[in-house]
Amino acid sequence: MTSASDDRPPVSVHRERPRARTLVVAILVLAGLTVWRLSSGVGDDAHEFVGATMGTTWSVRVDADLSADERARVQAVIEERLDRVNGLMSTYDTASELSRFNRHASTEPFPASAELLEVLALARDVSERSGGAFDVTVGPLVEAWGFGPGGGLEGRLGPKPDGAMLARLREHVGYQKVLLDAASGTVSKTVPDVAVDLSAIAKGYGVEQVAIGLRELGLASFLVEVGGELKAVGTTRGGRPWRVGIERPDDREPGVWGTVDLTDEAIATSGDYRNYYEEDGVRYAHIIDPRIGVPMRMRGASVSVVHPDAAVADAWATALSVLGPDDGYAVAVREELAVLFVEPSAGSFRSLVTVWLDDRFAGLEASR
Ligand code: ADP
Ligand code: MG
Repeated sequence: MTSASDDRPPVSVHRERPRARTLVVAILVLAGLTVWRLSSGVGDDAHEFVGATMGTTWSVRVDADLSADERARVQAVIEERLDRVNGLMSTYDTASELSRFNRHASTEPFPASAELLEVLALARDVSERSGGAFDVTVGPLVEAWGFGPGGGLEGRLGPKPDGAMLARLREHVGYQKVLLDAASGTVSKTVPDVAVDLSAIAKGYGVEQVAIGLRELGLASFLVEVGGELKAVGTTRGGRPWRVGIERPDDREPGVWGTVDLTDEAIATSGDYRNYYEEDGVRYAHIIDPRIGVPMRMRGASVSVVHPDAAVADAWATALSVLGPDDGYAVAVREELAVLFVEPSAGSFRSLVTVWLDDRFAGLEASR
């Protein structure tokens, strides 16, 4: 994206194209299904549903015999669930509950839906456990560094933030500035102008909500994916776990790096290789390190987290991206998380897997 101001060199932008990502996700899920189809000998009765939400795409695969009416019902339930999450948590939609909370420039309690309170409580927990690496109040920093609401790359409008500007912005940043009161069903701010951005957890929460809706319909075997965060419910017809692919963290040479077997579990991946921009030879990724107020430097790495809850997996994938493979690995072990770090190494990548994922991860490419 080129800039209107002439006091800085042109900034080259790499922006994730939703289509490309969908394609990759579809291929990955298909890779899993292909394995399953080959091994179980069934698959003609797997139904696929697709759509768009939260600035990205979603897909669902249901392994059941469904009539046309049942398929229409499944599609409607998925859309209802995702519309509800989007209507509550979108930062693009100025009428969403979250946008109203962000405009609520006051320290008075704000009555919030059960869902918003639930997501904020999950986020708070990951913030505390990650030493502040996960922080849903980073919005002002995200924007100052040129990533718009929801992490889309808008291009930086002003000059590169300097120390004084970062210090000013950080007065409004900090997960401790948002207080939850479950008993009264309210959220409040300790400073009036703090704002919340749920981009790093809402997709996972949407996955969870769709899974709840499909279970309520009596379905027992399905995959739900929103923007690359995925949940596998039940097993395949052959009684095997669902096999899903993990992408190679390389936008120039995409492919499947490895596979993970999942049953009633979610997997979320966060990487610095999809959304970044380059300036003065440095690539900045769309994830901010809230502890210093600066975007992560793009290294071509990814973190995948397997967890029963997709929202928790989503938040941890972001938190561990910020922490990086050294500190992140130590935190993952302390928290007993099933995690795969894919790290650049000698012109290729290497896998670093915690013991809780060990027996379910299979690398397809040997580290060179
Ligand atoms: P993706 O959106 O690609 O799945 P993430 O789940 O990691 O990636 O979410 C990244 C988005 O979350 C950013 O675009 C930004 O809006 C927001 N964000 C950036 N840094 C943080 C952070 N440290 N903690 C919480 N949210 C963040
Ligand atoms: Mg995330």
